[in-house]
Amino acid sequence: MWRAGALARVRRGKLKLCSFPMPVHSGFVCILGRPNAGKSTLLNALVGEKLAIISPKPQTTRNRILGIIHAPKQKDTPSGQVVLIDTPGVHRPDTSLGRKMMGEVREALEGCKLVLLIVDVTRKFARDDGFVLEMAKRAKTPVFLLLNKIDLLRGTKEKLLPIMDEYRKLHDFREIIPLSARKHEGLDMLLGKVIRLLPEGPRYFPEDQVTDQPVRFMVAEIIREQVLLETKEEVPYATTVVIEQFEEGKKLTRIAAAIYCERDGQKGILVGKRGQMLKKIGTAARLQIEKMLSKRVFLALFVKVRGNWRESPEFVDELDWRRQAERLAGSGKR
Ligand code: GDP
Ligand code: MG
Repeated sequence: MWRAGALARVRRGKLKLCSFPMPVHSGFVCILGRPNAGKSTLLNALVGEKLAIISPKPQTTRNRILGIIHAPKQKDTPSGQVVLIDTPGVHRPDTSLGRKMMGEVREALEGCKLVLLIVDVTRKFARDDGFVLEMAKRAKTPVFLLLNKIDLLRGTKEKLLPIMDEYRKLHDFREIIPLSARKHEGLDMLLGKVIRLLPEGPRYFPEDQVTDQPVRFMVAEIIREQVLLETKEEVPYATTVVIEQFEEGKKLTRIAAAIYCERDGQKGILVGKRGQMLKKIGTAARLQIEKMLSKRVFLALFVKVRGNWRESPEFVDELDWRRQAERLAGSGKR
C-alpha cells in the first residue's frame, strides 16, 4: 500500500551530487531476474515505500525503477546509500515494447557495482534462467544470488541446501541468500552484505529522496496496476496509461488519463457493462493516488484504441518518461 505522505519523500528533478563530510558506502545495484521472480516486491520492501507496481502477471514492470536506500551505520556495517534499480523481467522480446524493456535492463546493468540475481525458489532452473545468468555474468560485477519466496517452501528449510548446491555449480556467486521479499525475511542480512561490498563513495541523492520517478509516471503506473489486477488474458499486456492532464490545486488535484489498448474488444472489456469496469479501476486507483499525494483527487479515465501500439517504436518511445523529460529539457520547457 502507498504510505500517506510518500510524496514528501519523492522529489522531482535531476540527479544531484551532494557532498557530505561523513563517508558512506554507496553505488548502483541492479536487481535482475525472470518475470515474476519478485524483483519489484524486493525493491519496495528494501526501500520501505511502494515505488514499483506488483501483480501476479509476468511483465508488470516495463521501465527501470530507481529506489534509494539511506542506511544508517550499524554495529558491523558502515552507513550506506544503495541506489537499487528494479528492472523488467528478462525475456525474449517479440514486440517493440519487449525490445524496449530489454533495453531498459541493459541500461540498468551499466555502471552497476553489484547484481542481485533473484530467482523464484519454487521453480526449477530452466533455459530462460540460463539466459538471465549469462546477462549477469556479462556485467562483470560480483553477483549475489537471491533465492526468493522461501515462505512457499513448506516444511523445513533443509530443502534449501540441495538447491543452493545446484546453483553453486553454475557460477561463483559472491553470496547465496535465501529470503522472502513478501514476508520481509532475510532482508536485513542482504542489505548489510550489499553495503559492506560497496566501496566508499559519494551520496548520489539527497537523504530525503527515495526515487527519481516523476509523480505523473507513478500515477500512470497506479492506474495500470489496477488494470493488471482486474483484467486477464491479452488485455493487461495490450494496455498502457498516458496522463493527459495533471493540475495540482490547493485542495484538489485534477488528473485525466487515457488507457490505451489495441482493439475494440479490449476496449469493451476495459469499459465493462455500463462502465462498471472503468469505474472499479478508477475508484481503486484514485484511493491509492490520494494516499500517495495526501490530497483529494478528481480522476477522469478514458479508454482509447491504438491498433498494435506495442509494435510501434515511436509510440513506445513516447511512453518513456525519461525521454519525455529529455525532450522537455531540450525545448526549454519543464
Ligand atoms: P517481478 O515481475 O519480478 O517484479 O515480480 P513481482 O514483484 O511483481 O511479484 C510477482 C508475484 O510474486 C506477485 O504476486 C508477488 O506478490 C509474488 N511474490 C514476490 N515475492 C514473494 C515472496 O517472497 N513470497 C511469495 N509467496 N510471493 C512473492
Ligand atoms: Mg516487476
